[in-house]
This record gives sequence, structure tokens and C-alpha cells, in this order.
Amino acid sequence: EETSEKYEFQAEVASLMDIIINSLYINKEVFLRELISNASDAMDKVRFLALMNPEKDYGDLEIRISYDPAKKTLTISDKGIGMTKTDLVEKLGTVARSGTTQFLEAIAKGGSINLIGQFGVGFYSSFLAADKVTVVSKHDDDDQYIWTSSAGPQFTVKKDPRGNTLGRGTEVILKLKQDAEEFLDKKTIQDTIKSYSEFIDYPIYLYLEKDKYINVPMNEEEIKEEEAKEAKKLEEKRAALLKEREEKIANGEEVPDEIEEPTLTEEEMKRTKSEKTTEWLWEQVNTKKAIWLNEPKENKIKDYVKLYQTLKKDGSEPLYFTHFHGEGEVDFRAIIFVPDNPPVDMYEEVTKTKSGLRLYVRRVLITEGPEDLIPKYLNFLKGVIHSDDMPLNVSRETLQQQRIFKIMNNKIVKKVLDTLLDLANDKDEWKAERPNEEDWKYTGEDEDLKKEMDEEYQILLRWSLKKGKERYAEFWKNFSKAIKTGVIEDASNRNKLVKLLRFQSTATSGDEKDLTSFAEYVERMPSTQEFIYYLAGEDLEALKKAPHIQKLVKMGYEVILLDDPLDEFAFSYIKDFDEKKVKNLAKGELDLGVMTEYEEKKEQKLKELFKPLTDWWKSQLGREVDKVTLSRRLTTDPVVIVSQESGYTANMYRIAKSQAY
Ligand code: ADP
Ligand code: MG
Repeated sequence: EETSEKYEFQAEVASLMDIIINSLYINKEVFLRELISNASDAMDKVRFLALMNPEKDYGDLEIRISYDPAKKTLTISDKGIGMTKTDLVEKLGTVARSGTTQFLEAIAKGGSINLIGQFGVGFYSSFLAADKVTVVSKHDDDDQYIWTSSAGPQFTVKKDPRGNTLGRGTEVILKLKQDAEEFLDKKTIQDTIKSYSEFIDYPIYLYLEKDKYINVPMNEEEIKEEEAKEAKKLEEKRAALLKEREEKIANGEEVPDEIEEPTLTEEEMKRTKSEKTTEWLWEQVNTKKAIWLNEPKENKIKDYVKLYQTLKKDGSEPLYFTHFHGEGEVDFRAIIFVPDNPPVDMYEEVTKTKSGLRLYVRRVLITEGPEDLIPKYLNFLKGVIHSDDMPLNVSRETLQQQRIFKIMNNKIVKKVLDTLLDLANDKDEWKAERPNEEDWKYTGEDEDLKKEMDEEYQILLRWSLKKGKERYAEFWKNFSKAIKTGVIEDASNRNKLVKLLRFQSTATSGDEKDLTSFAEYVERMPSTQEFIYYLAGEDLEALKKAPHIQKLVKMGYEVILLDDPLDEFAFSYIKDFDEKKVKNLAKGELDLGVMTEYEEKKEQKLKELFKPLTDWWKSQLGREVDKVTLSRRLTTDPVVIVSQESGYTANMYRIAKSQAY
């Protein structure tokens, strides 16, 4: 008799499970996506081992899902890496993952349970559908163990008394809650897998009840009926033969003396009948190939949306995407998605080390979130990179690998930035025309095809509603901080990034949607204007009234007004645009271009005239200021305080002090 050991769930894990099991969340099917994704992750690990040890046989890698309506259970099993006893204890209960608290906070703020996978606690979503969960697992380094929990404060782990029945892998058995019994239905399971896990790179087999026709013997009565039919049929055949014979005689043809006896075929003399029964069969439910290996035109927008959903794990649709083939020194294929919603914490997003990409080499998932394939400020992107030109051992830092990564990194950033620029200029590649409803009406009987066509129609309909510029505006609203961070950090792509910036100015209405770009600013510049001017501060209204800009506004010059804390730091890296110098009005003297000899003389005279005043003022302020001087930039305001060309502005001090980002 094996003894079962009791363990306490770690406190945050316990409250997480408590929330999940008591939730009335309607999209319960999330649990299936999470369990399938865990199975797939576990098999990725085996695939990697298999690649490293080609001499060993790791067997077929597959997921099998079965259900038992009588016992009300749903079972998901995989041939993955499995879990040792320690893994079961730690990973499924006693060691809280970093995302646990974050997820609890997100839920408390009204966030969706759908996001659970992103926080690294997807396993516990099992309790959305089950009130008891059993995990049987076999890892090569340990015996087979059974983990069970009914979502109380404790769980148990014991050695499996049956020994090793799995070979290697994991089996998750869910005892379904009453309100989740819809998952005892093949259609529901099939549809859920189709919509969430289509791109899982391992076959998913579902144990299905299917119609089947078999031959069974006829009973006595049926045999009598059959015999009567046969006699009648023979009679008919005999009559036909006789008729034929008579016709031949009438035509003068020769006929044999003997009259031919008719016979029946085997089919006509059957003593069995066909009967409908059902049988249970394993059937593969996921069929999509790795769509990144296709040419873009072979894929539908729907395929991309589905792929995005398996990467993002929250059921949302991408804002946009690009699919390309990098050629040259390294050959690779990539699909990169721009999400349609901002991350929970943007600062964390652009500083964390893991990217949102998956790197595949020879169809094997090598790294989830590779660090060197994309600059940090683009970590918010999701995507798949596939290359066969890479050493498998990418985890080992080699010079060759670093060089390959650098080449790919450059190409990926360039393509992403070009894609965004195209969007902003309404030149989006994946523009969809509004689909014609008639073209997508399906009247046939194939339920699956009907569903598929309807799905594609709905997605095309939604997709066609937004044009490039509108998508870009949404992108800017959600990810402007990432682009600004890029301007600061990425000198080699700065020129492109600067083109992506959007801001308010004295020429915009102040509405948060009415923004302008450097290109538009330059287009409006009067021919006399030499420089591009900007001023940064806390809020737009104050900026508009600032004495720094009055003279310029009076002259009909436009001034860029920046009220985001990150702006001034980012702009300090922009020296010029379109060969025009970019000037911060909070710094140094206002240079309005070349002055005439007369103007210069006049200024010199005025400076002498006011010298007693400026000298007196400096003596009063002492070291508080660097100097007091006559300014060219004022109109009605008597005085303005500016910083030295090389110094921090007042706004930068304010921000540095508040540590705002
Ligand atoms: P995540 O998948 O983001 O790591 P989960 O809560 O889904 O978070 O899973 C927690 C951990 O439990 C996984 O990282 C893995 O170590 C382990 N695990 C869960 N399911 C399986 C499985 N089917 N096979 C092997 N390990 C698993
Ligand atoms: Mg998971």
C-alpha cells in the first residue's frame, strides 16, 4: 500500500485556486487551451532532447484527449517530458511563480481570467471546469506519481500503485463540475481545440464516438422475405432471357437448343444486413501546418489571427502583422504581430529580458522569448522566427551564434519599423476589402466548412473596418513609449523611429487624436523658418502659454509641444530631421537665423543700455542663475528662465526627481 503525502498549497496559489474554482467566468474553455499548451511545452522539451541525442528513441510525440460521460471525466494525456515527484510538489503547488501575485492583482482590478496563461499559472485554470484534478506523471528520472487536488488548501502526492503505465509523459484527469459538463460532448471539445489550439505542432487525437455500419445476420423472417425477393428476381431474369431468345429467332439468328438458366449474384443472395452502431475511434483534430513556412499569399488572415491567439494566449486579435522571408547570410522566416492592447506594465515590458518571440530551428522550438533577436524596446511584439541555418545549440553562447542573431535582429527591426511606417502612411499590405456577404454564404451540408467560411467572413469584416492610419493611431496610443525608448536606445534605427513619432503642436487642436509628425511639421514650415522647435512640460495648456514660445508663434512658426515625461529625453537624441536642426526652446538662446548687420548692431546697443539692470539682477540672484541677459524671444512676457545648451531643463529635473517614466 503506497502512502499518500499531504502538502499545503503556497498561500498565493491557494487564493488563486479559490478564485478560479468559485468563478462564474463563462469562457471556461480556456482550461483546455492551457492544458494543451502545457502538453505541447512538455513535448518541446523531449523534441529538443531527441535532437541532441539522435541515437535514442523517444517515441511518438502526441496529445490524446478522451472523455467519459458516465464518470464525467475529461482526460488530457501527453508524451512529454513528465514530472518527477519533486516537480509535482513544487511546480503544481508549493512554489509560487512570479506571475501568481500579478495575476491576482490583475483579476482584482477586473482583468480577465483569459489572461491566466500569460502569468505562468495556466495549469490552475483546470479548476474553472473541474472540482477535482488528478495528474499522473512519469519522468525518466523517477517513478510514476499521482497528484490530486480538490481545490482545498491541500493536495496529495503518492507513488502510483499501478507502477509505470505511461512510459513517459503526463495525464491530467478532470472530474468536471456540473456547469462544465458541456465538455463531455465531442463537438464542444472539437470546436474548442480548433479555435484555440490549431497551431499546436503535435497531433492532438480525440477519442470520439462515431457512427459505423456493420453487417449482421438476418433473422428467419428477413431470410424468408429475402428468399421471396430472390425467387421473383430469378423469374424476371428468366423472362428477360426468353424474350431475348425470341427476338434472335425472329431476326433469323442462330440460338442454342438449350434454354439458358438465369443465376443470381452473390450480392443478390446476401443473408446479412447492414446495421448502424457506434464505435470509439482516435481521430486527429488539429490539422494546421506551421503557416510561417508558407508563402504569405497561401495563408488567410484568419490563419494569422489564430496563430496570434495561440501565442498571446488571451483570445484577442492582433492589431497588425508582417510575414516575411529574410534572405542572404542567414535564411529565416518570420511572422511578427503587433498586439491590439498594451501590456499590463509597459515599463516592465521594455526593460525585461525575454522577448515575445519563439525561435524554431528545423521545426523544433529552441527558445521561448529569445533575448537577442529583437531590441528590448520591441519586446511587446509577438511572433515566430524559423530558421534552418542556425546551430541547434543556440543556448551555448558562441561567436557564430551571436553574429547570426545580430544579422537577424537587424533585419527584423528594419522590417517591423517599415511595416509600421507603411501603416502610418496608409500603405498597409494586409488591407482587407469589405467582404461580400453573398460570397461567404454556404448552403451545403458540411458543418465544418460552413463554420470555417463564416469565421473567415467575420474576421474579414472586422479586419476591413480599419484602415492603415487608424490602426497606426491605435498603435501609437498603446505603444508610443516603446517607440520613444527606441529613439533613445537604438541609434542605428533612430532615423526610422523618428518618423514614427506623433505629437501635439501649436498647430494641432489639442484633441488627443489630432497628432502630427515631423514630416507634416516640415511641410507646414514657412520658407523663412530654419529650425524645428519644441518645448516640453507638464501639460499642454501651460505649454501653450509659456513665454518661451510667444515670439515664434507671433512670427507664424509652429512649435512642437511635448507633455509626456519621456518626450524630452527622447527628443534630446534627435539632432535634425530632413536637414533641419531640432531645437529645444527651454535651452540656450533663441536663434532665429541670420541677422542683418542692422539687427545685430541694434541688439548690441540694447544689451549695453540694459547692462546696469542685468548686472544688478545677477548680483541679486547670485549663484541661483548662470547669467542674466537680454532675450530675443519675448513678446509680452517680461522674463523667461531657460537652461544652458548643455544642461538639464527644468522639466527634465522635475521628471528625474519624480522618477516618472
Ligand atoms: P507555465 O506553463 O506558464 O509554466 P503552468 O501553470 O501552465 O505555467 O504550468 C506550471 C508548470 O507545471 C510548467 O512550467 C511545467 O513545469 C509543469 N507542467 C504542467 N503541465 C505539465 C505537463 N503536461 N508535462 C510536464 N510538465 C508540466
Ligand atoms: Mg502553461
